[in-house]
Amino acid sequence: MERVALFPGSFDPFTLGHEDIVRRGLSLFDKIVVSVGHNSKKRRYIPIETMLGHIQQTFQGENRIEVITYDELTAELAKQYQANYLLRGLRNTTDFEYENSISQVNRYLNTQLETVFLITSPAYAHINSSIIREVHRYGGDVNAFLPYEL
Ligand code: ADP
Repeated sequence: MERVALFPGSFDPFTLGHEDIVRRGLSLFDKIVVSVGHNSKKRRYIPIETMLGHIQQTFQGENRIEVITYDELTAELAKQYQANYLLRGLRNTTDFEYENSISQVNRYLNTQLETVFLITSPAYAHINSSIIREVHRYGGDVNAFLPYEL
């Protein structure tokens, strides 16, 4: 059976750290669906359709990667894509605390779902979407952290 993983996130914006997780994930999974979620907690900084285009451009020509947007439970989205895995990145213990809770909830909602964590490559461990948003909002150049230009 094909191993399909979702890589869900807000990706506001999608960074080199996220790209690294997806590319490394290709050695574990046959197909990865990068799933850009509408953020339920706050309004997005970068419109979702704009981010979809940037991520599609990043993975252009890579036929094992699909990029989509979604506005529903991740656990339900996984069923639609017959994905048995969620791929997530771990930078530090703060990520771990959050990821631990969310993976328990996702498995409660969809018992078929295993969350697989990849530890961030050291070169990207400091990259943080919320800091990038702040720098960009005030006119700073953030392109060194992104696989496309913003
Ligand atoms: P969410 O809002 O769902 O936490 P994010 O877009 O912030 O979505 O992150 C998506 C996933 O990517 C999460 O698992 C997060 O821990 C991971 N991640 C975020 N930044 C990095 C990075 N620099 N390197 C590797 N993984 C990262």
